Amino acid sequence: MARSSGYVLSIDQGTTSSRAILFDHRGRPVGSEQVEHDQLFPKPGWVEHNANEIWRNVRRVTASVLASAEIQPREVMACGITNQRETTVVWERATGRPVHNAIVWQDTRTAALCERLGGDAGPDRYRERTGLPLSTYFAGPKLVWLLENVDGLRERAEDGELCFGTMDSWLAWNLTGGPNGGLHITDVTNASRTMLMDLRTLKWDEEICADFGIPMGMLPEIRSSSEVYGNLTASGTPEGVPLASILGDQQAATFGQACLEPGQAKNTYGTGNFLLLNTGTEPVFSDHGLLTTVCYQVAGEKARYALEGSIAVTGSLIQWLRDNLGLITSASQSERIAESVDDNGGAYIVPAFSGLFAPRWRPDARGVIVGLTRYINRGHLVRAALEASAYQTREVIEAMTADSGVKLTALKVDGGMVVNNLLMQFQADILDVPVIRPVVNETTALGAAYAAGLAVGYWKSVDDITANWAQDKQWEPQMDSDERARLYAEWNRAVEHSLDLA
Ligand code: ADP
Repeated sequence: MARSSGYVLSIDQGTTSSRAILFDHRGRPVGSEQVEHDQLFPKPGWVEHNANEIWRNVRRVTASVLASAEIQPREVMACGITNQRETTVVWERATGRPVHNAIVWQDTRTAALCERLGGDAGPDRYRERTGLPLSTYFAGPKLVWLLENVDGLRERAEDGELCFGTMDSWLAWNLTGGPNGGLHITDVTNASRTMLMDLRTLKWDEEICADFGIPMGMLPEIRSSSEVYGNLTASGTPEGVPLASILGDQQAATFGQACLEPGQAKNTYGTGNFLLLNTGTEPVFSDHGLLTTVCYQVAGEKARYALEGSIAVTGSLIQWLRDNLGLITSASQSERIAESVDDNGGAYIVPAFSGLFAPRWRPDARGVIVGLTRYINRGHLVRAALEASAYQTREVIEAMTADSGVKLTALKVDGGMVVNNLLMQFQADILDVPVIRPVVNETTALGAAYAAGLAVGYWKSVDDITANWAQDKQWEPQMDSDERARLYAEWNRAVEHSLDLA
């Protein structure tokens, strides 16, 4: 059966790790490799990654997944990239040397800069064109910070010596030759997270670039999310394989969850949480603190848009319990520890480590733990940390319902935290809708694989994606409505305590 022979390689460059996963024609993983990279915290609120380390890791996992799955390079039909979004790199065109560590999406160093860029118009100055509020979250202001704070950078950028990119651009350039003819490209989904792209024309916005003082020659070319851009040439990778998709991680997960019709939504529980609702070929602008973003674009077709609710801290709160407090020894242990108690004992953790993102957008918020009594033990705190993801998700879903008028009937979930049954049951309880997990939880990598496979004809149409989607597990709401209302009201009171602290 010629049609289904071979595999598609997906490179998933996430916030905490880089993965390479091979998928077969049914969309099932046949091999997977993963390496974590260092999280650098040079100052409070600053988060950096070493872009060279990430590229080395990507090359390593790519080589090892082929070896461990015993798959030959010629059996790989296409390669796709999906990536942590907004994380910003600037590198030398001639050498590939990054001029600074990558500034990670969670980094808040651009808070004052964003205020300045907003001027009298405030944070919504560019919302109508970009779909985004001015926020430390997005790549454009991070690039401005680099141009203003690294010696000689603006001059060098103006002279054409430098390339800017989010992680996708950095990897695509390196994978396709680096200094020797590497492609300097990005896709519409990643570009839509820079604040520099016009959402409707899908082109860099000259006026915004001028306002920000960004030399446009350093920007990558914007391409669709699913087309053959070029071939892999880097040693250690399957050389000659077409690079055929690029999608930001959350958009890739939406694609991988087969949310291909307007009104379909998914929620990913990773470092942060990201809920995306497909709104079709027209951008919908939010009155309730959600972002408007490009969902995906298949070559030659209209772009599809999404409303997005981004929550900065969910899974990373579990990491924090592990690494900074030592309350647990592993993320997976959180479930057992939380099960040791019946409820949160009245304790709430609001993890506003980098302010609050959707739907509140409060950069002045900081993390708080409230409701402590002598009764509270480790189990209650771990439970409160897990519950925080569920409460924050409910806030985003309420905003989405208000913006779209569509009432949620079930929530498709994925990401590192959805193996946690206690959390998923609590999520169903606090939302009062069923929560559904697919068989393939690696939806991010899968989405990039689908987009790449579609571009080379390995999958014939998006119908193949819908046909491949299968449910693994469903959690039904069991909590009574008074209890749900009481807990959510207490959560809201806890959030009030986190405001005005920065
Ligand atoms: P990303 O792609 O953002 O790097 P992942 O989707 O890999 O993230 O999810 C990793 C996150 O999930 C980590 O922050 C980790 O703390 C959390 N996590 C992993 N396993 C569990 C678990 N069993 N219970 C709760 N959280 C978990």
